[in-house]
Amino acid sequence: MEENCIFCKIVNKEIPVKMIYENDNFVAFPDVAPQIKGHCLIVSKKHFVNSLDIPATLGNELIGAIKSIFELKVKEDKSIEGFNIVQNNFPVAGQIVMHAHWHFLPRRKDDGKHLRLE
Ligand code: 5GP
Ligand code: ZN
Repeated sequence: MEENCIFCKIVNKEIPVKMIYENDNFVAFPDVAPQIKGHCLIVSKKHFVNSLDIPATLGNELIGAIKSIFELKVKEDKSIEGFNIVQNNFPVAGQIVMHAHWHFLPRRKDDGKHLRLE
């Protein structure tokens, strides 16, 4: 636990959120400022800063979390046909919260969101 880290506080239940998923090493909860309907964050339980900091052995669980969250989302909204995973590493790449997390963005046909790399 890192002092003054907002995601550590959420993981430790000091700040209440509606958890939508949990496994041994990750949790997921809605982003406070969703970029698209259903936007949520997959967050490591331990305070790792970003991808470089995370042990590669947690990769299986991260992929498992992504698959489970997609299944959960589709169950609650049949119009979801896909998803984007976005991760910002270091401030220069747009990382604001310095505790490792992945954005899960559910996608619907004609949802008007453009995340294409140019
Ligand atoms: P990034 O660090 O990848 O730029 O994004 C951090 C994300 O965390 C942002 O999308 C922001 O809306 C979200 N966020 C920041 N503080 C909180 C919070 O206290 N609760 C939740 N649920 N999301 C947060
Ligand atoms: Zn933290």
